[in-house]
Order: sequence, then structure tokens, then C-alpha cells
Amino acid sequence: MKKAVRYIGYTFQDCYRAFPRFFVLTYLLDGTGTACEVFVPLLLARILELAGEGQGGKELAAVIGLYGLALACGPVLEVFFRASSKRARVLGKKYFGSRLAVFSAKIRLEALEDPDTLDKFHRAEGGENSQFIFFEQVNLALRKLATCGGMMMVVGRYSPVLVVTGLLALLPALSTKIYFEKKITSFRRGQSPVLRRCQYLRGLFANRETVKEMRVMGFEGHVTQRWEEANRARLKEFQETELDVRRKQVWGIIVMSVCYVVNIGVAFFLMAGGRISVGAFAACLAAFSAYDASIQMLIAMVFNAVHTYRMVEDYYDYFTIPTEVEGDLEYRPFEEKIAVQDVHFRYSGAAGEALDGLTCEIKKGEHVVVVGENGSGKTTFSKLLTGAYLPSRGSISYDGQRTEDLRRGSLYEHISVVPQDFVRYRFTLGENVGISSLKRMGDTKAMEELLAQVAGEGFLEKVGGLDVQLGREFGGQELSGGEWQKVAIARGLWKRSSIVVLDEPTSALDPLVEYEILSRFVEMIQDRTSVIISHRVEICRSADKIIVMKDGRMVECGKHQELLAREGEYARIWREQAKWYV
Ligand code: ADP
Repeated sequence: MKKAVRYIGYTFQDCYRAFPRFFVLTYLLDGTGTACEVFVPLLLARILELAGEGQGGKELAAVIGLYGLALACGPVLEVFFRASSKRARVLGKKYFGSRLAVFSAKIRLEALEDPDTLDKFHRAEGGENSQFIFFEQVNLALRKLATCGGMMMVVGRYSPVLVVTGLLALLPALSTKIYFEKKITSFRRGQSPVLRRCQYLRGLFANRETVKEMRVMGFEGHVTQRWEEANRARLKEFQETELDVRRKQVWGIIVMSVCYVVNIGVAFFLMAGGRISVGAFAACLAAFSAYDASIQMLIAMVFNAVHTYRMVEDYYDYFTIPTEVEGDLEYRPFEEKIAVQDVHFRYSGAAGEALDGLTCEIKKGEHVVVVGENGSGKTTFSKLLTGAYLPSRGSISYDGQRTEDLRRGSLYEHISVVPQDFVRYRFTLGENVGISSLKRMGDTKAMEELLAQVAGEGFLEKVGGLDVQLGREFGGQELSGGEWQKVAIARGLWKRSSIVVLDEPTSALDPLVEYEILSRFVEMIQDRTSVIISHRVEICRSADKIIVMKDGRMVECGKHQELLAREGEYARIWREQAKWYV
């Protein structure tokens, strides 16, 4: 409840920020519209009274004029309102969409490993601009509530009994609708993981790589079947709940109609008993009609607003995802060493620790290779080393500057990373490389030289130059897996950073080509500190230091010959892989 009050507060505050003029206009128009609605039955009664007393003349004409004006007022204001509402909707979309984007850029990278984050994002996207709809629904509900109140005041002038019977019409229908709306919303929300699974499965058919693999490997039909099953289950559950809810709603409508008839009946008996005049009876008829229509709208709006509130909640819940914990220390390039001390790290939801007390150090200018079998924690180490993730225990410090104390952006300026799951940007070749250091994007000569070094002399000519669009999606040229990897490495080197981290971006290549590329890479970064993560050991021969990892810890550290002589984990891996290189 407290949360709902807070979120509704945010909604109104944000709506005011997004469209201040429409915000104020809404209340002005709503106030005027409600006053006109309440005057209609009162003016009608007056007309009948004047006509009944046989008084025509100026007063009657004036009252009829006012009556017409009050009747026309509603539709005219409505037109006004609709026109400005369209613009406000666009402003809201812009405001709420950009807040989401700005926040997404600040989310802690570790949080992205958590499937719950993806769920929240999916839901928040659905809730984007629901604030605008919620604002409109709440205001319409308030307006209808004010109309209902006004109508009760009108009938209350003639008899308090009518107020009591009138109010009775409101309560049962309202409570049933709120109850069922809650039920259907919680059902919809409960489905989110199913929905995400359906979208994931369908997404496999929109991705060229997966379609290719599914078709060639012959499991396309199996995936289609899984998607169909998931979708069928989703639809079936939805239809059953929807049907159940609609059936129960019919009862609410029946109760309301009965109440309406009872109200008119009571007014009629009061008139027949001589307790109210014919004019008052007419005013009651008009008031009950308006009241009935307003109740319907009020309930519909409360019903819709409760539903929309869930989306509002999804939107604001997204902002509870942890953001990057930024230190305020500006990074000062390290001169001596990076010290990794007793570092522990566990992924959210994982049973064990991915890093379990890792301790090592990297000196300035050293070329370090981190080796170990799959799952030993190499990639996790690279993520912590670059400050993308923070240790849950222990520390990583650059000449004493701990990653958690640093303003991460200032550290990133000095680090270049080529990750395992590098991105194939559907941009031109030049952009694909130059994007890591936009300032030097125009230096085409340097870029061509770099590409020749990383990818070989003939590469640029083969692709057709730096301006060639890459990727078939936009009619560009497609590269092979290995060529994309070379482009990613060139991108990593284009950024003139003092530290370079290479996380197995060559793993899809055959061992000899991989060795050739990595050797060239090492030659090109002689003047920088580098960390190469690899599960292949051939590259270790030329390394200044080899860190051997196992079960999230460093088990050995040294140079190639030293480690071979030690006959431990490194020697074992080396012997296993030696057959590839002979
Ligand atoms: P390596 O790079 O040596 O193959 P990783 O650093 O990728 O090893 O993984 C180390 C351990 O952490 C493994 O047990 C792996 O299953 C686990 N792990 C990696 N990524 C995640 C994740 N996103 N969520 C949970 N566990 C993970």
C-alpha cells in the first residue's frame, strides 16, 4: 500500500514534469465540465417549475438558455481535451522512454546476469507511458466521482432516502469489479516468464545464425513444436481466466441495473405521495440517469486504473535494479602493478562462487596469459579486472586504487577489452573498428595499417574498403566468423589504451590460425600491459607470466618453462594440447 502511494505520487509528479500545461488544463476542464453536468438536472427542475406555475417570460428563457449551454459545455470541452491530450501523450512517451533509457545505461553490469533483470526490463518496457494513461484514467474517475457526488447532492435536496438508495448502487458493483480486475492482472503478471519463453523461442527464428543451425542440424521442427506448446498453454490459461472473470462481471451489471430501477421507483413514490414536485421528480430522473452513466464510467475507470497501475508499478520497479556503484576517485594510470587480493565473486542465483579467493598480480608492461579449463573462472576474472564487476570479497587495486573506489568511466578510458562474445556491428568496416576511439575515426591511413596488421594484407581489398557496410541485414557484405573476430580485435587495438584484455575472441578459429593471430596481437601491444584469456596454451610460450586457474583460484603462476618443469596443472594441459601444434 505504501509502495502504491509512493508510485502514484511519482506518477503525478512525473506527469507534471512531462506535460505541465496539459496537466493544469485537465483540472480546469474537468472542474468546468463537472459543474455543468450538475447544473443540468437543477436547471431542468427549474424549467418545469416555472412552466408548471405558468410563468413564461424572461426567466424561463434565460434558464432554458443556460440549460442548453450546460448541455453543450461537456461535448465542447471534450473536443478541446482530446486535441491537447494527443500532444501530451507524445510528450509523455518521450519523457518516460528517455528516463528508462538513461537508467538502463547505469544498471550494474552484474545485474544483467540475473534473468529477473530481463523480466523487469521486459515489463518496464510494457509499462512505458502507462503513467499518461493512468493519469487520464484517475482524472476521469475523479471527475465521474465528482459528478456522482453532485448528483447525490441534487437528489438529496429533495429527499435523503434517495441518497441512500443511490449510494447502494455504487458499492456492490464497484467492489466486485476491483476484485476481478486484481485477479486478471495477477494472472497476466504471473505469465511473464512463459511470455518471455515464447518470445525467446520465436526470436530463434528471427536470427540468421540460429535458423541456419536449427535447419542444418535438423531440430527446427522441435523448436517450432516447443514454441507452439508454450504459446498454446499461455493462450489456454488466459482464455479460461478471462471467461471466468467476464461471467462474474455480468452479475455486477445486473445488480447495478436493479439499483437504477429501484432509485427511479423510490423517486416516483415520493412524487406520488406528494413529498416532491413533478419538477423535482424530473430533476431526479435526469440526476439518476447521469449518476448511472457516471457510475458505469467511474467503475470502468477505477477498474482500468487498477489494471494500468500494475504497469506503472512494473515501470517504477525497474528503477529498483541496482545501478553501478560508482566511486568518486578519478583513475590515475598505474605505474607499478595491479594487485588482486583474495577476490571472491558469486553470480546472482549461482550455487557456488565463480572466483574463490583469487590472488595474483600483474606488473606494468607485463604480457600475462590466463589459462585454465572451461569454467575455471577466467572470464569472470577479466570482468572483475576491468571493473565491470566488483568483488564480493577481497580487492583489485591499480597501484592501491581499488576498483570499487574508482569512478568507473575514468578507469574505462584506459582499458580496452575484446570480449569472448564480441559484437558484430552492422555498420561500415571503418565504423566497426573506429567506434572504440571516435576522435581518431578520420585517420583512415592508420586504420588501414592496423587492419593489414591484424587481418592480413589482402583483407581490406577483399572486403572492398573501410566504407563497406558489413552484415547482410542492411544489404552489406558478410564476413566469416574468423574475419569478424579479426575486426573485433582491430577495434580493441584501435583504442590507444594502456591496458588490453583479450578474452578468447579467437576460440572459434582453428588452433593454428588462432596462434598466428594471437602472436601478431602480442607483437602489436609490446608497449602496453596485456591480459590474454585462453584455454589454449600455445600462446603462453612468449608470455611474461602465466596464471593458471582452477575452480576460481590461481593454482600456478610463472613462465612457460618453469611451469612445465613443475609438472602440475599447466604441464597437464600443455601435454593434452601439444598434439594440435606438432
Ligand atoms: P571460464 O571463462 O574459465 O570458462 P567463467 O568465468 O565463464 O569460466 O565461469 C566460472 C564459473 O562461473 C562457472 O562455474 C560458470 O558456470 C559460472 N558462471 C559464469 N557465468 C555465470 C552467470 N552469468 N551466472 C551464473 N554462473 C555463471
